[in-house]
Amino acid sequence: MPLMKDLFRLAHAPRGAFLLVLMVLASAMASAAEIPDFETIARSFEEETIADRRWLHENPELSNRETKTQAYLSRSLAEIPGITFVDGDWGTGLVAKLHGGKPGPLVAWRADIDALPITEDTDLPYRSTCRDTLRGGRSVGVMHACGHDLHMSIALGAIRTLSAVRDQMPGTLLIIFQPAEETGDGAHDMLAAGLFSGENKPRCVLAFHDHPTIAYGQVGSCSGWSTANVDGFRLTVKGRGGHGAYPHRSIDPVSLAAKMVLAFNDIVAREIDVNHHAVISVGRIEGGAKGNVIPHEVRLEATVRTHDDETRQAVRSKVERVVSSLAQSVGAPEPGLEYYFGTPAGYNNPELVEQARTVFRRVLGPENSITYPPGMGGEDFSRYGQVVPGFQFRIGVAPPGQENTMSLHSPQFNADERAVGLGMRLVAEVLWDQLNR
Ligand SMILES: [Zn+2]
Ligand SMILES: [Zn+2]
Repeated sequence: MPLMKDLFRLAHAPRGAFLLVLMVLASAMASAAEIPDFETIARSFEEETIADRRWLHENPELSNRETKTQAYLSRSLAEIPGITFVDGDWGTGLVAKLHGGKPGPLVAWRADIDALPITEDTDLPYRSTCRDTLRGGRSVGVMHACGHDLHMSIALGAIRTLSAVRDQMPGTLLIIFQPAEETGDGAHDMLAAGLFSGENKPRCVLAFHDHPTIAYGQVGSCSGWSTANVDGFRLTVKGRGGHGAYPHRSIDPVSLAAKMVLAFNDIVAREIDVNHHAVISVGRIEGGAKGNVIPHEVRLEATVRTHDDETRQAVRSKVERVVSSLAQSVGAPEPGLEYYFGTPAGYNNPELVEQARTVFRRVLGPENSITYPPGMGGEDFSRYGQVVPGFQFRIGVAPPGQENTMSLHSPQFNADERAVGLGMRLVAEVLWDQLNR
């Protein structure tokens, strides 16, 4: 915006130039006035949103069992002016709309709602003491160790904040509370139930994940590939068992399995272009009962992570080749290989990323909008991004100084709760920006 001394100087300039500057000044003031005072509005809802977070943290539920959570979210949304619910077969999920008073686009926001089978080990006054029973009958503690309690409460706080200015809000916000992110099927099931069909197909979809290695007060973003294809395989290496003292009379599947593990490492190290990320990790290997008995078979389980589809397909065919050819090389039977493709890689639409970064820099200061490199973790938010442009950013929840010690999925995970107030404002600002485009 021009300074007063510039205006004074321009008052002595030719009349045309002065009028032009006045017009520029007026439009700058108009666009500045278009952004409501979200800091003040969000603060007025902060206390009740922190109360939401604490209730949700204390009452976690496992994937596809989030019935109390669903009821709580439904009650909370129903109290927010301007909300309507979208009927559908959403399981334990929930879909709603916040209607703005002006014409504009449909923009989607997603928050995931499930917790993990982890026994909480914090001394928070609102820590979870909940337990549940896994299929198979094992009793486990349940905890929001991935911070989805923050995802839900911050979404509620942002919706309240936007609802307060809904008369000036263009377009409609499509709100998705998604179950079963941790098992990787929540987003798939909601899309299969018609979430983005017909008039409910948004122009774009956004979300955040709380992040334990980013300090409170900062936000992280990654343009392009940001999460990985979460694939893997189960492998049964077959041999012929016998006495450990006479290996030449057997076909040793332990020795063969060991060769295969090293060959998987070589696929990544020697056969994949270093510019295309890939990881193969064998996390489980099991066979035999005793040191002097060569077993009949050895079972392996591995996870495979990639970003682009070409590498994803290539790793699969190389694993098939290695497994088959190594078995043949020692005269072993064909191994049993069960290879599966799971949650797809997440792609952050670069245009959405740039637009949101402008908001991050304005709200938090340029030094607090940080860029992080692509990761090999998975998140089923990626499935929405396969239908419409998507962007998932990361809100820092590490208490200052603890950026290197906190971990998601840990029984000691303890987010800096101030992230609720800051997060709800940031989400409202990002959504407002998108609704105005
Ligand atoms: Zn998680
Ligand atoms: Zn999570």
